Amino acid sequence: MQSISALATSGVQKLVPYQGGKPVSELQRELGLTEIVKLASNENPLGPSAKVIAAIQANLADLSLYPDGNAFALKSALSEKYKLNSNQITLGNGSNEILELLARAFLTTDSEVIFSQHAFAVYPIVTQAAGATAKVVPAIDYGHDLSGMLAAITEKTRLIFVANPNNPTGTYLTEQALSMFLAAVPEQVIVVLDEAYFEYVSKDDYPSSIAWLVQYPNLVITRTFSKAYGLAGLRIGYSLSCPAMADILNRVRQPFNNNALALAAAEVALTDVEYLQQTVALNNAGMQQLKEAFTELELPWIESVGNFISVDLKRDASAINTALLHKGVIVRPVANYEMPHHLRISIGTQAQNEFFIRALKAVLADV
Ligand SMILES: *Cc1c(COP(=O)(O)O)cnc(C)c1O
Repeated sequence: MQSISALATSGVQKLVPYQGGKPVSELQRELGLTEIVKLASNENPLGPSAKVIAAIQANLADLSLYPDGNAFALKSALSEKYKLNSNQITLGNGSNEILELLARAFLTTDSEVIFSQHAFAVYPIVTQAAGATAKVVPAIDYGHDLSGMLAAITEKTRLIFVANPNNPTGTYLTEQALSMFLAAVPEQVIVVLDEAYFEYVSKDDYPSSIAWLVQYPNLVITRTFSKAYGLAGLRIGYSLSCPAMADILNRVRQPFNNNALALAAAEVALTDVEYLQQTVALNNAGMQQLKEAFTELELPWIESVGNFISVDLKRDASAINTALLHKGVIVRPVANYEMPHHLRISIGTQAQNEFFIRALKAVLADV
């Protein structure tokens, strides 16, 4: 009998599954540790906002009902926040689902997709699953080489993924660099601007990308409630685009792709300004705390504007990662991003960062 895997499309056969951060419960099971700190998946160390928890509790009694498939309330809230029309918003089961909807709507086995070396791992996955060809453009100093990405465009290019800031490097692109890039991309090539971490960025030259939507119908901006809004476990993200693009994405999505609790939670999360401010303040302080420790340890890092930082251990990082796990610290190895000497650390609370720093110092003293 033919093997099942031989029946899958050739793109899917070549797929390598995404490896997430190790769940705390798994490490507990494996090593029997009691105290574990997970700084591996860029989750919000504050936990969800109290207002969001209350909103979820208030909606529990209605769980027997299907959610609003058009998400009227959340789209209205987002459209008011961003001064856009509701028909420019598409909701996804995490912004990752939007990336997949884009691939499903626009890619065939003939298509090419451009993204940068060291860019977010979901771009190659959705490209490969669609059977399309990835054109990976070498990074410059870990950041996107936009000129190189422009030069990689051919008649077959359908999508370009641009992460701003990028995960796992934390690098960002300026307003000027991106506006020149958008002006040079042919109109039949779709630019996906992934802004999963934009709430954390405080740089003056970071773009206000929404203003570009009027000019560029080929632009899709993706954002998420998983990071700064602390709702990674609920799975909800969105895209902003021209109405025609949103219409296409809405055709391929499942009718109830966002669950009722996620919709209710996200709507309330948008109003909790204080939580967002606390999140950003905690992140800034934690970023500083980690950089000071890396300076002391003479470890270089990649300057990051996100809620994580990739540190260069100046040797293969996998043994150090294993040793950290044995001390109850889960961080993210990034060898699969062609960064075998780095580990990516999500910024935690002051105490979590301290726990990590102590473990790292102990591990490095041992090697
Ligand atoms: C975390 C992340 C996302 C968002 O993932 P969700 O599916 O919304 O949880 C998107 N892009 C990048 C670069 C990320 O790091």
